[in-house]
Amino acid sequence: MLLHKPTPVMIQTMRGAGVAREVIQGVKFFKCSDCLEVSYPVKTAAVKPPSWFAFNHEVIIDVFYIHDMTRNLYGFLSIVDNGTTYHSISLVCEGQWDSQVF
Ligand SMILES: [Zn+2]
Repeated sequence: MLLHKPTPVMIQTMRGAGVAREVIQGVKFFKCSDCLEVSYPVKTAAVKPPSWFAFNHEVIIDVFYIHDMTRNLYGFLSIVDNGTTYHSISLVCEGQWDSQVF
């Protein structure tokens, strides 16, 4: 394996030697097989494929509470289908959460 100078040094040397401009332009795009062989492997980021966007494949469920102007508390069940973005909200309780109900 013969090593060579970096591309900018080669270009400067070739310009000094009076090499044709087309050849110098070609050096900029030349990929040396030896350099590719000894270079570090390109690391790719670990990724996962996107979720399957289909109805009823991934459902997001949440409960949230809001109160009215007289401070009465209401609990709502929110269900979102991630594939179709179909969203359903139902009133599930009034007042404070009562663990005896469920
Ligand atoms: Zn090389």
